[in-house]
Amino acid sequence: MEFNQILEQIVNLGYLVGVLLFIIGLRQLSSPSTARRGNLIAAAGMGIAILVTLIVPMDKGADNYILILVALAIGTAIGLIASKRVAMTAMPQLVSLFNGLGGACAVAISVVELNDYQAAFEANGAGAIASGVHLTTLLAMFVGAVAFTGSLVAYGKLQGLIDDRKVRIPAPTYVNLFLLVVIIAGIVFKLVAPVNPFFWVMIVMGIALVYGITFVIPIGGADMPVVISLLNAFTGVAAALAGIVYGNQVMLVGGILVGSSGTILTVLMCEAMNRSLLNVIIGGFGSTGAAAAGSGDQVAREITVNDAAILLRYSNSVIMVPGYGMAVAQAQKVAHELEEVLEGMGVSVKYAIHPVAGRMPGHMNVLLAEADVPYPKLLDLDDANQALADTDVVIVIGANDVVNPAALDDPSSSIYGMPILEVLKAKNTIVMKRSMNPGYAGIQNPLFFKEKNRMLFGDAKKTLQDLVAEVKSLE
Ligand code: NDP
Repeated sequence: MEFNQILEQIVNLGYLVGVLLFIIGLRQLSSPSTARRGNLIAAAGMGIAILVTLIVPMDKGADNYILILVALAIGTAIGLIASKRVAMTAMPQLVSLFNGLGGACAVAISVVELNDYQAAFEANGAGAIASGVHLTTLLAMFVGAVAFTGSLVAYGKLQGLIDDRKVRIPAPTYVNLFLLVVIIAGIVFKLVAPVNPFFWVMIVMGIALVYGITFVIPIGGADMPVVISLLNAFTGVAAALAGIVYGNQVMLVGGILVGSSGTILTVLMCEAMNRSLLNVIIGGFGSTGAAAAGSGDQVAREITVNDAAILLRYSNSVIMVPGYGMAVAQAQKVAHELEEVLEGMGVSVKYAIHPVAGRMPGHMNVLLAEADVPYPKLLDLDDANQALADTDVVIVIGANDVVNPAALDDPSSSIYGMPILEVLKAKNTIVMKRSMNPGYAGIQNPLFFKEKNRMLFGDAKKTLQDLVAEVKSLE
């Protein structure tokens, strides 16, 4: 057997191992208790895939190794520094950015391939490259471009650099439809007459990059979780298409896994928001400015830490509702401490998890797992809404939109129709936050003014620490 053939066998074996590790890792990601290991296993799979790719025999000369190693070193350094430095609350933005870079890679490699095809078309005519391959590469470029700029816009929104309520496109549905038609026409035009100048490819790429922006700009407020998982699915599809172009199994399977899991997550997120995907894309839900029930003359009543502690200590059942504010305050460990103290006094404590609480899918599950909260203590939306009717006290820890009753009874509200945690079913509610400011959707929350609700203002971590001390003193 020739040396190159042996290398190819090793590469294929490495890809097979990499793909198996991806699948095992993904499987383990589906439970919080195995998720950390699953992540490491999938990362090992990616490491093996990269290493064996480096030994793929190259027909274009070994000079490329210098470029590859420099690119690897820069990418590794940026990845390491970014993930070490990022605050837990900025994790969703980082994930969005990394996702966008996946799309950018698909664009880069597609353009390089398309440039090579162009030379072949010009030398040997339209039949030089099969139209199936040509189409796949053009699609990889298109989907990758949308994922790239779309993820950058999502990053800007999550980071607070782009304000949903101010940055608007007039008639976005028509603008997007128009751009989509132009992109499809451009792809067809190039496919039908491949000898058309390379300039057309660049035009399609440019419009696809713009489309990524105009596609995500109108989607805002509470719909961001859906668009983030959709962009994730796009990147997977772009990688899978690029895998087909290169005949690279690990890229193909990796892309399919990301594309299909992203699609499943998108469907689940849509269900969680009680909306169809089409409605999310063209609806502009949650980006429609203020709306919201104005607070008017309504008064939100406060409670002291001492009174809150007494209420909790003498309850039978308590449900905590964590939200984005818990992530900001990093209050998950103290929340767990309060739970243990109360349980030690005979109070049953559970956590109600809304699927879009926080800023990324599974955000609350990750934080509570990090604080060693036992998984059976977490109730999903449906179970929590059943349990809430028999609950004495609900403590809302930095959550806002996910407990906003306007979603149930105010058709003029921009989150009307979104399933929420119906905390008003419980006997008492205590909302912990720093001010009367709205949450991500930018709307006021009528819960704060309800008779059975009390506000406990302050940073969630500090308030919980005070509460733990107060409850302990009641022993
Ligand atoms: P919200 O964004 O609705 O509210 C969070 C609340 O936390 C704020 O009102 C804020 O009030 C409070 N807060 C912030 N910092 C602190 C602190 N240090 N201590 C105490 N409170 C604090 O969060 P929810 O989790 O209820 O809802 C998530 C929202 O984000 C939904 O609209 C969802 O659609 C959206 N979203 C979700 C994504 C996902 O994948 N999960 C992705 C993108 C968006 P104050 O400033 O007064 O303290």
